[in-house]
Amino acid sequence: MTNVFKRFSRAAAGWVRGAPRKAFVLMYHRVADEFCDPWGLCVSPRFFDQQLDVLRQFAPVLPIKTLTANLRSGTLRRRSIAITFDDGYADNVDIARPLLARYDAPATFYVVSRQVGSEREYWWDELDRLLLQPGRLPATLELDLEGDIVRAELGDATTYGEESHRLNRNWRAWETPPTPRHALYYALWQRMRPMSAERRQDILEALRRWARADPGARPARAVVSQAALAGLAADRLIEVGCHTMTHPRLAALTVPEQAEEIRGCKESLEAILNRRVESFAYPFGGDGDYTADTVSLVRNIGFSSACCTSEGPVTASSDPAQLPRMFIQNCDGEQFGRQLSEWFGDR
Ligand SMILES: [Zn+2]
Repeated sequence: MTNVFKRFSRAAAGWVRGAPRKAFVLMYHRVADEFCDPWGLCVSPRFFDQQLDVLRQFAPVLPIKTLTANLRSGTLRRRSIAITFDDGYADNVDIARPLLARYDAPATFYVVSRQVGSEREYWWDELDRLLLQPGRLPATLELDLEGDIVRAELGDATTYGEESHRLNRNWRAWETPPTPRHALYYALWQRMRPMSAERRQDILEALRRWARADPGARPARAVVSQAALAGLAADRLIEVGCHTMTHPRLAALTVPEQAEEIRGCKESLEAILNRRVESFAYPFGGDGDYTADTVSLVRNIGFSSACCTSEGPVTASSDPAQLPRMFIQNCDGEQFGRQLSEWFGDR
């Protein structure tokens, strides 16, 4: 840690007068040691600790509300950072929060209101549980997706052993699938992404029947409970933000449906926290995942900021309703520091 500090304090000392004012909003999802992580959502507790240590040497970490207020008033600092977490996993509270407290670093947790306290995993986690865990599945799947039949032959991957699971543990969903199970996982993920929460549950139900699996959720994939969420209301460092009611692809919904997803989440969270919820993050958050109507809704419903997942710095000309973020990978403090140096243009 000390080495990391020495190396990067030099970079930090090189802040150049007149350099453009730049902030970065960091996007995390989970702080956990996960054996298999197809979307690369986990940063290990050890690495998260190291990253926070590097961060405090680098730039002030501000609550997203402060960063946005600075942006609006034209007083964006020369360099600053905000930390955000999407999806409201329980490990945000159990593991990330104590580490954030240790470094006195504020963060925003964007929560999906209907998932709070749910006994079901997120649909993408359940796809992982049903398809990518070791075990035996029927050789053939035939699934009716609104009249469109999806067929899959699992072939060699009908039986999937511990050894194959270990070999494929570092596979990422956007890479070439190593087995028919992985191909099926990604194909279903793509098909399910624009669907309603009800339709996704119908498909999971059909898959559970096919796999003869129970609906039981894994504790490691749990989402924050209502009690834990309420406990954040008094936390000086943690802000709870809105990430819709069911994590839909908002662009696939009508404007009134979008409004319900956004407003419904805000109202539920405000009822639990007994305080105003003013920050928003678009589910999936890419260019095609929300529309200009969504941005207007977010402004009109009363959010002071909204984060997307386009990568880039926040600069004086950024729109507070579409703040870009940087996806943070599971890397150690040293690599993280190199990345920050690059982003801030220190080298
Ligand atoms: Zn999300």
